[in-house]
Amino acid sequence: MRVGPGLPEELARLANQPRVKVRRGGAPLTEGKCVVYWMQRAMRVVDNPALDVAIEAGNLLGLPVVVFFSLIPNYPNANLRHYHFLVRGLEDVAEDAAARGVGFVVRRHPDNALAPFLAEVQAALLVGDENPCREPERWRRALAARLQLPFWTVDADVVVPSSVFGRSFFLFHHFRPHLKKQLSQFLVPPRSVEPLYRWRPDRPIDGVVPGPALLNGLHGLDRTVQPSDAFTGGTHAALAQLRRFVTAPLGRYDVARNHPEVQGTSRLSPYLHFGHIGPLTVACAVQQEREVGRISAATEERFLEQLIGWRELSVLFVRHNENYDTWECAEPWARKTLTEHCADPRPHLYSFEQLECAETDDDLWNAAQREMVQTGWMHNYMRMYWAKKILEWTPDPARAYEWAVTLNDRYQLDGRDPNGYAGIAWAIVGKHDRPWFDRPVCGLVRPMSGASTAKKFDAQSYIRQNLG
Ligand SMILES: Cc1cc2nc3c(=O)[nH]c(=O)nc-3n(C[C@H](O)[C@H](O)[C@H](O)COP(=O)(O)OP(=O)(O)OC[C@H]3O[C@@H](n4cnc5c(N)ncnc54)[C@H](O)[C@@H]3O)c2cc1C
Repeated sequence: MRVGPGLPEELARLANQPRVKVRRGGAPLTEGKCVVYWMQRAMRVVDNPALDVAIEAGNLLGLPVVVFFSLIPNYPNANLRHYHFLVRGLEDVAEDAAARGVGFVVRRHPDNALAPFLAEVQAALLVGDENPCREPERWRRALAARLQLPFWTVDADVVVPSSVFGRSFFLFHHFRPHLKKQLSQFLVPPRSVEPLYRWRPDRPIDGVVPGPALLNGLHGLDRTVQPSDAFTGGTHAALAQLRRFVTAPLGRYDVARNHPEVQGTSRLSPYLHFGHIGPLTVACAVQQEREVGRISAATEERFLEQLIGWRELSVLFVRHNENYDTWECAEPWARKTLTEHCADPRPHLYSFEQLECAETDDDLWNAAQREMVQTGWMHNYMRMYWAKKILEWTPDPARAYEWAVTLNDRYQLDGRDPNGYAGIAWAIVGKHDRPWFDRPVCGLVRPMSGASTAKKFDAQSYIRQNLG
């Protein structure tokens, strides 16, 4: 390792940014030959602040960067549908990493352990990304305790790093002013730091080639849910989808976003979930449309309110609430009202299997469930209705929450995400919402009736599209 004058301060400056968390401190190993970026959440090379930090550190240390991806068969609640999308994305990572001059090594279970890889490539420093969900956070902590080299993680998949807020918020309008204050600093075009040292290992480093065969023979992988034909994974598909969205539907977003029967939203949530695209890339593309006058400031604001506002409020909810995936996350008012109404007669009681198979008496709900099972995605308006009905049709709110999480995580390509837990919490236990008027079953939690929902858009068309 070449140590230039003033290096420690430069590295310290890098590590002290709000987006970076030093999980294991200390100086990079003097005998190190590279900086390793352990890619887990932000599966992209373009607009990836974690990779940028790794490259900047490498440049300061005079070292190249190699990206390491460890493919395990049992990522919590993931199945073939998710893995298929993920693995498609790794092909783009390989292509883009080569173009950018950083290494990329994928290893599959059982040869996927990070520690031997770090030793083999003689890593000086390990950089990772952030994920607020329980297991990935636990893995990062466990790793930091075991490692013999410095380990930093970078909050790469939000516009404003979560550490800036340091807490969750009760309601969206409480969060909005805090968020607005930060946007001039963080809502800026993504950087793309050029690596000064190319990855050229002395000897070949074993790894598997990203491609469709990657999942063959991967034992222990849940193959019960088939891949979706409606979405192709990867950064390249995500950027193409972003271009399609900004050239047409974005202009009508304000109105069309509440019409599940038309494709009026970005449909980028699977890509954002897998980190195939960064939120900054999306936000800047939308800002640019407003700057050239193709969309109004109101449309821009409405879209960014979803992409940054609601999305990052959800991240803070998960980061600061360890019960995010059970009804235990309910605020006291919601817990009280739902408990009081627990014994109310339900209009219908369906089993988990009836719900999963879309066998209810409500065609609109069945259509939404089918959209999710068949395509791996459901329109936002229908997600709200879908979850509210599960609360009405199950024996108690704890079970409603559990079943909604199970179905959402199993079938949605964007499931297993802070947005999903916050969305379900909003619908079932009134999270980020205020008490409404007292009704049977839902109590003070905002209700959503089939009759009024179906009047707000062409429900018959949506039903035909999904029930055939
Ligand atoms: C019950 C329920 C379950 C949900 N489950 C998920 C889930 O598992 N994964 C998921 O990503 N989103 C979930 N959402 C939030 C929202 O429905 C989806 O993010 C949105 O429908 C995705 O479609 P889009 O990309 O076309 O959104 P667009 O309208 O184009 O919005 C752009 C982006 O903004 C973010 N966004 C939009 N609406 C919301 C919202 N209400 N809350 C948080 N972020 C939002 C998403 O990242 C989205 O991709 C859920 C909402 C509810 C009510």
